[in-house]
Amino acid sequence: MTATILDGKAIAAKVRKEVAERASAFRIRHGRLVGLEVVLVGDDAASVVYTRNKAKACEEAGMRGVLHRMPASSSTQDVLAKVRGLVADASVDGVLVQLPLPKHIDTTAVLDAVAPEKDVDGFHPVNVGRLASGRPCLVSCTPAGCMRLLDETGVSLAGARAVVVGRSTIVGKPMAQLLLARDATVTIAHSKTRDLGDVVREAEIVVAAVGRPALVRGDWIRPGAVVIDVGINRNDDGKLVGDVDFAGAVERASWITPVPGGVGPMTIAMLLANTVQAAEAAVAS
Ligand code: NAD
Repeated sequence: MTATILDGKAIAAKVRKEVAERASAFRIRHGRLVGLEVVLVGDDAASVVYTRNKAKACEEAGMRGVLHRMPASSSTQDVLAKVRGLVADASVDGVLVQLPLPKHIDTTAVLDAVAPEKDVDGFHPVNVGRLASGRPCLVSCTPAGCMRLLDETGVSLAGARAVVVGRSTIVGKPMAQLLLARDATVTIAHSKTRDLGDVVREAEIVVAAVGRPALVRGDWIRPGAVVIDVGINRNDDGKLVGDVDFAGAVERASWITPVPGGVGPMTIAMLLANTVQAAEAAVAS
């Protein structure tokens, strides 16, 4: 079997179009743009690119995307004051603080200062708890994007054996919660898991979110499995690769995401979707 490629770019474009339609309807109905405010502290080169892309993507979807840059020397109090000011502004629907923050800043305190209803990254403990208890919430963007990719396959998740490799708060754990909420039988594997190959061989759905090139070997993939590769790594040739040995896995899977062009484009698309969801919820309440 050769897998069908799950084209994240095309699916993300579809999500962005749906978001633009909702944002336009919101503007007509409520007389203002849906608004996302992005806070960046310091000059980390990758974070500068990510935050600019987020603000630009908002504008392309007919939303307001404002980037607030603060010096790396900012204190926790400075950042808290900024975040609280944005949260208090009724015209702001989403507030996102780009991670990682400089080491001297209390990241937990800053993330906790983002009101749950404006927490479009889904990192606030209230949203994490709501997800775990199966209640409506803003869901972390990358796992939300993975679910959308899985839905595009049409493969039934109910009762399916799913293995999530990686247990981070941002990807692995919420991914497992989302799969569980859709009635999959979920295993979370991590750095201490013994015999990872044996665990992955059981899976009808594999989600790899580790950050190690080719950690998941092609011959571990159960024939017909759906493979979602979240990893973004540079291999020895400087090429972008995922966590899954793509060449081996593509011969066995039914569906597989490429890296780049799989999960990556979905993350910003789901951020936009979360922001419009936050705006719609704010006017409905
Ligand atoms: P993380 O470092 O926070 O977590 C990595 C997880 O992998 C940990 O839970 C750890 O237990 C597990 N792990 C480490 N070694 C392992 C091993 N040998 N076997 C099994 N599990 C092992 O990383 P993260 O933030 O979850 O990100 C994971 C990867 O996904 C990274 O490559 C990151 O760049 C990428 N990522 C991509 C997107 C996107 O938009 N595509 C978004 C977020 C993260």
